Amino acid sequence: MLDLQAINEFPARITLEGESSGLEIEEGGVSQAGTASVELNIVLSDNIYYCIGEAACEVKIECSRCLESYSLNLRGALDFTVREAAENASSDEELLDGELIKPSGAGQVDISDHVHEALVLELPLKPLCVKDCRGICPHCGVNRNEEDCDCRTESEDPRWDGLRDLQQ
Ligand SMILES: [Zn+2]
Ligand SMILES: [Zn+2]
Repeated sequence: MLDLQAINEFPARITLEGESSGLEIEEGGVSQAGTASVELNIVLSDNIYYCIGEAACEVKIECSRCLESYSLNLRGALDFTVREAAENASSDEELLDGELIKPSGAGQVDISDHVHEALVLELPLKPLCVKDCRGICPHCGVNRNEEDCDCRTESEDPRWDGLRDLQQ
């Protein structure tokens, strides 16, 4: 929750801890998601709050090669505006892209959708625990980061990595 009424002076720089990251388990291989921290620079102009900053969250995610979970710090850009609802606005007022409506008179704005979106965009399509993760041996199934196996029939040519990932 972003509490605009608690800010006395603009432009303002604020930090919010413990925001809900909104990340669901299983989303993009995420097995565990912590709370997010948010940093925002807020400029007030013509009754519109321009908010630019960053959301960060630590997640546990599954490596696409070896299937082990590892920790990953996600950092995503935030860029949205908040404007006050008009006095007699209907509840289904049109929203522009990246725009939030603050209920008239209220100070708090729920920014969780924006935080969620910023973080989801940063989820890797193909998570890797380490850049050159050696993955699981397709023959015997050992995690080749942890032990070497004797299956030497397959070429270690990295150009085959893509094909191996397809097989998994
Ligand atoms: Zn791995
Ligand atoms: Zn093997």
